[in-house]
Amino acid sequence: MNGSKSSRNWVAGHIASLPKSGIRDFFELVNTMDDVISLGIGEPDFATPWGIREATIHALNRGFTSYTSNLGHLELRKAICRFAAEDFGTKYCPETQCIITVGVSEALDLVMRAVLNEGDEVLYHEPCYVSYAPSIAMACAVPVPVVTQASEDFALNAEEVESRITPRTKMLLLNFPNNPTGAGLTPADKQALADVACRHDLLVVSDEIYEELTYGERSPSIASLPGMAERTVLLNGFSKAYAMTGYRIGYACGPAMVIDAMMKIHQYSMLCASSIGQAAALEAILNGGAARDEMRIEYGQRRNVIVRRLNELGLPCFMPKGAFYAFPDITATGLSSHEFATRLLQSQKVAVVPGTAFGACGEGYIRCAYATALPEIEEAMHRIGLFLKTL
Ligand code: PMP
Repeated sequence: MNGSKSSRNWVAGHIASLPKSGIRDFFELVNTMDDVISLGIGEPDFATPWGIREATIHALNRGFTSYTSNLGHLELRKAICRFAAEDFGTKYCPETQCIITVGVSEALDLVMRAVLNEGDEVLYHEPCYVSYAPSIAMACAVPVPVVTQASEDFALNAEEVESRITPRTKMLLLNFPNNPTGAGLTPADKQALADVACRHDLLVVSDEIYEELTYGERSPSIASLPGMAERTVLLNGFSKAYAMTGYRIGYACGPAMVIDAMMKIHQYSMLCASSIGQAAALEAILNGGAARDEMRIEYGQRRNVIVRRLNELGLPCFMPKGAFYAFPDITATGLSSHEFATRLLQSQKVAVVPGTAFGACGEGYIRCAYATALPEIEEAMHRIGLFLKTL
């Protein structure tokens, strides 16, 4: 049968049924065009702070280029656990409760595969980061979205969460500050969700990748609330706050039992995260605070401008509490999110992401990332104004 063609479908059923990311489709189109102002990609426009780049060069120079421990470089784990204690109010043992991963993306995948059995249900909020439902589905579990509302500042309502719990519910997945809405949770919101998790014996996975990009007062992590340390896996990373997306370094901290199970998968599938990436992350966490804060202040200024301009243009927009996304309501235009984004791109060369990329309830919204320089944001708002006049 050598050389014969196969007509067999090789793709696993649960992968074949996964939709491709709505953002990717949209940006394939953007990439075919010139001179586009992009408010699309959720990636810092800053280069990684120089001290961190220098630490990367230094790691190369001294030959820090081998595998690290599977769990990650111990110095980095120690620094992360110290940082978590100071910044998030949570205590972890660096030897057993912390794992360095290839971005928060890998941490998310690991925790799903380590914890979920086929058919388990995971509650999460929509609109949300595009990977959540697919990560749950790739672990053969069932994603159960809970809608958040603009009228409630896109915060997650604990009663709503509780009403969706069934005997199969095992996990509650949270991301605040939120991508794409910029929403945050108050200490009372966190306490109410923690109470639900304790009452129903749920594991909470808290993706706090934008926590250091909070504009107002920061509140302690849900992991630090009474009774939560033993049922919370905290995810964080270096991509956003330190402008290190290409380094691919994230981490998970949580109960030793869960970290150990995540480590097994990581050990067999990834071995370890990049050694030079880990050296850079160590510099970031030890000495990158000032550069991080400067970037946050700059994002905060852009946030004020973009939100004011969107509201002036008649696109009501909630004031984000963190991250670098504005999520205005475009229903007054009578266009769907997809039509709005496509026509804006074609007529004015401004790229925004249709809200539906973040869940069906994102219909009527667009996401505008303000990880873009202020003059470009101003020009994009001017062009959106011109676009609105043509409707
Ligand atoms: N979680 C959220 C909420 C995100 O927005 C992103 C990136 N856009 C990630 C996780 C993944 O980040 P990384 O893998 O670069 O750490």
